[in-house]
Formats: sequence, structure tokens, C-alpha cells
Amino acid sequence: MNRRRRPATELTTLGRDRDASFGFVNPPLVRGSTVLHDSAAQMRERVRQRHAGVDRPVTYGIYGTPTHHAFYDALTELEGGHASWAAPSGLAAITTAILAFVRQGDRVLVPDSVYGPTRTFCREVLPRFGVTAVIYDPRVGAAGRAAVEALFASGTSVLLLESPGSLTFEMQDVPLLASVARARGAVSLIDNTWATPLYFRPLEHGADVSIHAATKYIGGHSDLVLGTLTANAGAWPRLRAAIHQLGVTASPDDCWLALRGLRSLAARLAQHRANAERLIDWLLAQPEVERILYPAAPDDPGHALWRRDLSGASGLFGVAFKPAVSAAACSALIDGLQLFGIGASWGGYESLIIAARPERTVAPLPCAGPLLRIAAGLEDAGDLIDDLAQGFARLRAQ
Ligand SMILES: *Cc1c(COP(=O)(O)O)cnc(C)c1O
Repeated sequence: MNRRRRPATELTTLGRDRDASFGFVNPPLVRGSTVLHDSAAQMRERVRQRHAGVDRPVTYGIYGTPTHHAFYDALTELEGGHASWAAPSGLAAITTAILAFVRQGDRVLVPDSVYGPTRTFCREVLPRFGVTAVIYDPRVGAAGRAAVEALFASGTSVLLLESPGSLTFEMQDVPLLASVARARGAVSLIDNTWATPLYFRPLEHGADVSIHAATKYIGGHSDLVLGTLTANAGAWPRLRAAIHQLGVTASPDDCWLALRGLRSLAARLAQHRANAERLIDWLLAQPEVERILYPAAPDDPGHALWRRDLSGASGLFGVAFKPAVSAAACSALIDGLQLFGIGASWGGYESLIIAARPERTVAPLPCAGPLLRIAAGLEDAGDLIDDLAQGFARLRAQ
């Protein structure tokens, strides 16, 4: 029997190298800069191999330790890629990937629903190098292939994707967009943070590089900041070159924690989603709520794409209020919550809530009233609902 095991099973052993771990189930935490060689000739040969594209054995700490490689191997397997790397943050992973594939005069296509700091990088840094960022409607795929092709003016070297998008949760037609990009000679880079490598394998849908803020669900415990990059064989040489030229490396401690986080990812995500769905059912019964932004919900505009392409859903969603609800009333809801933290990031064990203010350039916002973003944590859903009920009482008292 040669069938691939299911991801929840794979997660328990991925990246394991018993010889490198002295038999322990987890890899050793190796910190280091200098790697000693047996002779000048051996060092020369290993450096030559590195220049030729061989990453192991390593010659220096910046190129990774056995701790990094255990994490990279696990990710590569999960994403179905050729090779993986870690960056010191999710944002650093994204900017490294963009820099790897652009040159002066190029255009980069950026979805209007992109993670805010990615938009800022594209708007403020790329033009300094003669690269133009062109914002496009994340749902352009619904208008058909010709509409997607029209985005690819000559000189377009990078297509950025993020599905669902940050704050507004629009699903993108990744296979269609990536296939047009490939036909036009552009690389597709996708921010796959929401779906995690468990629920979407973008390289199998035509993307070239899958990127995660491992800060979120992969780490899972709000105790690290880390980004990951997984490339197919075609994209890896240029990405790898940029990683080394820019000096992109993450700490082994964070890679060790992220690998530990991966082990429980399937179980955590199941609970995050179950809690999200309990909260959503309750929220939809509140008259002030106009709609929920969550592609796994059957009436979400992105639901058909979600069903077609993803195999699961995580626990982050948007709550769109009716326009009559004031921002002050939403603040009253948020302030005083006992179980929901008010703060950036998501994917940890604790529930979070923020008032979302998406920036838009070309595509209309999916809602006219105030928008909140909720990260459903691992608490008991009944307690979370009780907390929200008190929040709605404060909102109504405004
Ligand atoms: C948080 C986030 C990032 C950035 O990750 P950091 O590790 O905080 O830099 C990128 N993309 C998405 C979708 C995110 O939510």
C-alpha cells in the first residue's frame, strides 16, 4: 500500500532524522555560526557545493543548522514543494520573495485585499528600484480568463496572491490566476497563512512559492515571529540566491518552536474552526450584524472557490456590522471583553478581536458599516459567547 498518509498523521513524524537527533523524537536545538571542517580541501569542496546549489552539509550558520533543516523538511513535505526556508518574520518572507523575482522596470500585481504591510512595501519600497506595484481586484478571476490576462501588461514579473485576503476574506481563483501568470512568464507568490499548509497546497494549484506567517497558526502559541517560504523546483534557484544574497536567516530557536507547533496543528485547527462556527452562528442571530466574512460559510461569496480548492478552514473571520452601527458602539463592544484580547496577530491559543480598517484602491469593500476581525481561540465556545453577549449589551447601550 503506497497511498500518501493523511496530513494529521504526517505531522507527527515530518522532518524527523533519528541519526541527527540521537534517537530522540525531536531534533536537537543547534545554535551556531562556525562550522568546523577537517581540512582546507574539505572546506573548499563544501563551499563549492554550496555555490552549486547544495544546501547540506552546511558551511556556516547563516545557511542553517540541523534544527532549521528539520523544520524545512517538514514544510517542504507538507506543501509538496522542492525546498523551504525560514525568514525572521512573515513580512520578511514576503519581501524576500518579491525581491528575488523583480528587476528595474518590472510590474508586480498586488491584490487589493493584501496584508497591509505587504501593500506598504510594494507602494513605498519597490518604486525606489523602478518597480511598479499595480493593485488588482482580488476577485478578478470571476470575470474570466480574459479579464485576468488583461492585468498582465508586458514587464509583469510577479503575481502576488492571498486567499482569503486579509481583513476582507475574499477568495481568489488561484489556479486560474497562477496559470495565466505562468503563461505570461510571471511567478506567482501566495501568502497562504490563513489556510495553513494543511488546508491548501498552492504549488499543486500552479503557484510557484507558498509563504506563511508561521507567527500565526504554525507557531500557534503567540511566542514567536517567523516566516516561511516553500518553492517549486523552477522557482527555488532564484529564491535561494536572493535568500543568500540578502542574508535571510531565522533563529534556530524559532524554527524549533515552529516545528513543535506543527505537530499539533491539525488538532488545534479543528478546534479553532469549531469555535469560529459556534461564534458565527451566534453572531448571525444578532440584528446589528449584517454579514460574516468567512469563506467556509455557505452563503459567503467565496464559498464555491473555498470548497473547490481548500480542504478545511481555520478560525479567523470578519464581522460586518450594519452601517447604522457606529464605530463608538463597536468600541464599546470590544472594550470590556474578558476573554478576547485586543491586539495584532492571530493563530495563537487565545481569542482576539480588533476593529479592522482595510485600505482599498480598486475594489469596493464588502461592507459599508464597521468591521471587526475575530480570531477564535481554543477556549470553551460557550464562555466566548457569554463574553460577546455582554459586549453586545454594551454596544446596545451606546
Ligand atoms: C501576520 C501576517 C503576515 C506577517 O507576519 P509577521 O510574522 O507578523 O511579519 C503576513 N501575512 C498575513 C496574511 C498575516 O496575517
